[in-house]
Amino acid sequence: MALKGTDVVKKLPEGGKKNCRECGFPTCFAFAMKLASGGVALDKCPYLPADVKAELEEALAPPIKPVTIGSGKNALTIGGEEVVYRHEKTFVHQPGVALLISDKEPDAKVDEKLKKIKELQFAWVGLTLKADVLALRCESGDKAKFEALVKKVCDDNDLPLVLMSEDVEALLSARKICGDRKPLLYAVTKDNIDKIIDGIKGSPAPLVVKGHSVEELIPLTTKLKEAGLDEIVLDPIAKNMQESVKDQTLIRRAALKQNFRPLGYPTIGFPCFIGKDEVRETLLAAMFVIKYPGIIVLSDFDQYSLLPLLVQRLNIYTDPRIPMSVEQKVYEIGEPTAESPVLITSNWALTYFIVASEIEGSKIPSWLCVKDTEGLGVLTGWAAGKFSGDSIGPFIKKTGIEDKVKNKKLIIPGKVARIKGELEEALPGWEIIVGPREASEIPAYLPGLVKKWQN
Ligand code: SF4
Repeated sequence: MALKGTDVVKKLPEGGKKNCRECGFPTCFAFAMKLASGGVALDKCPYLPADVKAELEEALAPPIKPVTIGSGKNALTIGGEEVVYRHEKTFVHQPGVALLISDKEPDAKVDEKLKKIKELQFAWVGLTLKADVLALRCESGDKAKFEALVKKVCDDNDLPLVLMSEDVEALLSARKICGDRKPLLYAVTKDNIDKIIDGIKGSPAPLVVKGHSVEELIPLTTKLKEAGLDEIVLDPIAKNMQESVKDQTLIRRAALKQNFRPLGYPTIGFPCFIGKDEVRETLLAAMFVIKYPGIIVLSDFDQYSLLPLLVQRLNIYTDPRIPMSVEQKVYEIGEPTAESPVLITSNWALTYFIVASEIEGSKIPSWLCVKDTEGLGVLTGWAAGKFSGDSIGPFIKKTGIEDKVKNKKLIIPGKVARIKGELEEALPGWEIIVGPREASEIPAYLPGLVKKWQN
C-alpha cells in the first residue's frame, strides 16, 4: 500500500509542526497530503535530512515502476499502475502492441511487416489507433544477421524497439546500433545477469528479466536494483493461457496489495509464442490487454485482428470516470460560408464524431457548434442541465458565430425539441429550428432544408 499523508507528516521537520510555508503550502500537513497523492515533489521542502528524504522517496515510489522505452514523440511508458481492477479507479499506461520480426524471416516479409506497422492506423473518435512497438528477434544465432536487421529497422522508422537475443554480445552490439533510441533489452536470466550488468555499466538500459517462474524473477530484480539498474520489465515465461493469467495476476497483486518491490515492475507478454494459431494468438492478446502486460508481442496481424484489439485497449485504458469529450467551440465542416446552416450538439466525443460525419455525408458545408456538457450526450446533458436553453444561449453569443452567418437560424437536435422556447428567449433574433432526432437522418435532412432556404 502506498504511504498515506498522515504517515508522511510524521516524517516531516519537527514531526510535521514546523509549518514554515517555504514549500508553498500553508502547513506541513497540507504538504504531506499533496505529497502522498503524488501532486508535489519531495524536494519542495528544503529541511528534509538526506536519510528521511531517501526513506520517503522509496516509500512514495509507485508500487509498479513506470518504465519508458524508445525516445522522442514515439516513446512508450508502461507500468505506473495503481489498481488491480480497472473499475477501482483507472489503468494508467496502455500496453504497447508490438510486432515481432525475426532475423530468420526473408527480406520481403520484413519489408511487408515494416510497411504494415506504418500503414495500419485507424482514426477513432478523434484519436489514431496503431501498434506501437517492434520486437526484433535474433533467431538465427548469427550476430551479423541480427545487426543487419536492427540497422534496417533503425533506418526505416523511429518506433520503440525490443531487442531479443540469447547472445549477450549480439544484444549489446545491436543496442549500440540503436544509438539513443533507448531499446528494451531482452533478456536478463540467471545465467547471463553478471555479463549484462558488466556490459551496460555506466550506460543503463531498460531490461527484461526472464525466469521460468515468478519466484525465479525475484533474486534477479533484486540484484539488478542493487547494481543501480531499476528500469525493469518482467517476463514470467508462460506456456499457456492459464499459466499466463495466473503469473500476471500474481505479479500485479504482489506489487499492489503487498507492495512487494522485487515484483513492482511492468510485464511483457508473448501471445506470439503461446498462441497455437492466429485466432488463439489474437484472443490471448485480448486477454493480456485486460491482465496485465505492459507490452504485448504478436507474430503478425492484419486490420481484422489489430483494430478490435486496439479498440479494446482504448476502452480498457480510458478513465471510466471521465467521458471522452472534444473541445467546446465552433467546428467548420467542409468550407462553410455566411449562408451555411448552423447546428449545435454536445461535446461527448462519440456524439461529435457521429454528427460531424453525418454532416459531411450530407455534402452541405456547415457550422457545428459544440457545447461543453462535460462529455455527456445530448439528452443526458439536457437532463443534467448542461444542454439547456439557458446555457446554450450565452455559449452561442460567446462563440462569435453571429458575425459569421447571415441567416440566424440554429438547428437543435430533435431529441431536445423542448428547449426551443427557452432558446428563442435566450437568443433574440435567432430562429430556432428543431432538427432530426437521429444523426443518421442529417444527410437526408440538410440538403432539403438548404434548398428550401434558397427558394
Ligand atoms: S517547507 Fe517543509 S517544514 Fe516547511 S511547511 Fe513545508 S513541509 Fe513543513
